[in-house]
Amino acid sequence: MALRIPEAKDVTRKKVLVRVDFNVPIKDGMVMDDTRIKAHLETLRFLKENGSFITLISHLGRPKEGRDPEFSLKPVAEYLSSLTGWKVNFVPDCIGEAVEEAVALQLQDEILVLENVRFYKEETKNDPSFAEKLAKPFEVFVMDAFSAAHRAHASTRGVADYLKSFAGFLIKKEIESLSVVRDNPTHPYVLILGGAKVSDKIGVIENLLPKVDHILIGGGMAYTFLKAKGHGIGKSLCEEDKIEYANELISLSQDKGVKIHLPLDCVVAPEAKADVSTIVIDTETSIPDDMMGLDIGPKTIKAFCEVIKEAKTIFWNGPMGVFELEPFRSGTEKMAIAVADVAKKGGYAVVGGGDTAAAVNMFGLSDQMTHVSTGGGASLEFMEGKMLPGIEPLLD
Ligand code: AMP
Repeated sequence: MALRIPEAKDVTRKKVLVRVDFNVPIKDGMVMDDTRIKAHLETLRFLKENGSFITLISHLGRPKEGRDPEFSLKPVAEYLSSLTGWKVNFVPDCIGEAVEEAVALQLQDEILVLENVRFYKEETKNDPSFAEKLAKPFEVFVMDAFSAAHRAHASTRGVADYLKSFAGFLIKKEIESLSVVRDNPTHPYVLILGGAKVSDKIGVIENLLPKVDHILIGGGMAYTFLKAKGHGIGKSLCEEDKIEYANELISLSQDKGVKIHLPLDCVVAPEAKADVSTIVIDTETSIPDDMMGLDIGPKTIKAFCEVIKEAKTIFWNGPMGVFELEPFRSGTEKMAIAVADVAKKGGYAVVGGGDTAAAVNMFGLSDQMTHVSTGGGASLEFMEGKMLPGIEPLLD
């Protein structure tokens, strides 16, 4: 995939609109997690060093209709300034006179941050005239919001119809890393899947099945597979309408020589709460009707780690259990340690975004992975083999 990456001549002294993802958690006006902000610094430094006039545009949350101070990007603009020491000015709109004036008067060492683009309903509709208004004060568009690139919105896709467009360095890094695990894996290749739903992961399984050697299945989605194999799963998560698919997949993978590994045991409890008492049950034995499986058990951890240890390539999407609660965290934590060990030994270990990235972050292991994607939905769609609408206009 040949992305158009900006060179100095493309951006020097140009008015550059950069689509970032500043959709960060904010509490009482304070940025609570700056991972997403820091992910854009390489692109911003490049533009600064090359004398661009930089303006940043982003969404924040899902404001209902119109302006809502709770979803303002002003605190993020202030945070960016304190993080970098750069001169950052907030513009309380993203189209119209306020923006045109600010851009016209902009000094070269000053970064502008526009107000939340989702204050306009035209954004998510990818309204062409709105996209044209977004583009109007600028000469160049740099798309750097990988995590929003699976959405065809005005600020992620539409604006590229009106400006010469480039991929930022975050998008470059994401596409390069994900392309290795999607298209050019070194074997053995282990796909680790978990999380709540089978249905979210079907596209990835189907696209990667011809390329992987092992699939480890944990998390809530494992119980649909266990039920398909005839195990009693109590009141664990189950997608009844995917049981047949799970069976088909098990036989298809056998035909292709891919080994699917399901939990051998699991940590069960009456409900997903922090203060419940838990027991470990072998999956050969039925989970009692009033209990649910909420993490993989120690035998499974051992078996999964054995497979991971041999891997040269790993793609991991979905936690092994309800890692947000301490009693059900161990499976995800032990997988994270094992995956990081593979990366440390020179293997290629990529963690999909969303909850899996949050878990790896919680364990302090993000830096030890080959790559942790910033995009949950976007990385899944990319791994499914789909062309992301926000990426398409950036291809040469
Ligand atoms: P996903 O977005 O599909 O990757 O799902 C992530 C969510 O799955 C996390 O919030 C986990 O708490 C949840 N999860 C993982 N394992 C289980 C399980 N055994 N039962 C219910 N939820 C689970």
